[in-house]
Amino acid sequence: MVNKCSVPNCRGNYKNGPKVTVFRFPKGELLRKWLVAIRRNDFKPTSNSRVCELHFTKDDLEYVTEAYDERRGCLISVQLPAPRLRKTAVPSQLDGCPSYLSTTVTYRKIQTLGKKDLIMNK
Ligand SMILES: [Zn+2]
Repeated sequence: MVNKCSVPNCRGNYKNGPKVTVFRFPKGELLRKWLVAIRRNDFKPTSNSRVCELHFTKDDLEYVTEAYDERRGCLISVQLPAPRLRKTAVPSQLDGCPSYLSTTVTYRKIQTLGKKDLIMNK
């Protein structure tokens, strides 16, 4: 059975909606963060409730898993059949929802040019 996405306005896995990978709700403190993130503070997720991959960034998902191959003595990475969610991931992509609550992504500009090394010719 395919579980539909619990996020308001999302058509993930609905009839005529996109086919997506869905994730179970976490427990405890992380669950609270998820509910705030999807703006359903009063929502009580059941064992069938899911949030789909569309609400996560690429950094929240793992597409490969790495394992140490002792026989060969090297690290191997294996492509996962379906993306896996990182343990601390919280939904942040909420298209079609009021944006006033959405997580603000701040881009920090990294200053690469320090004081130019000036060669003083005396
Ligand atoms: Zn969704």
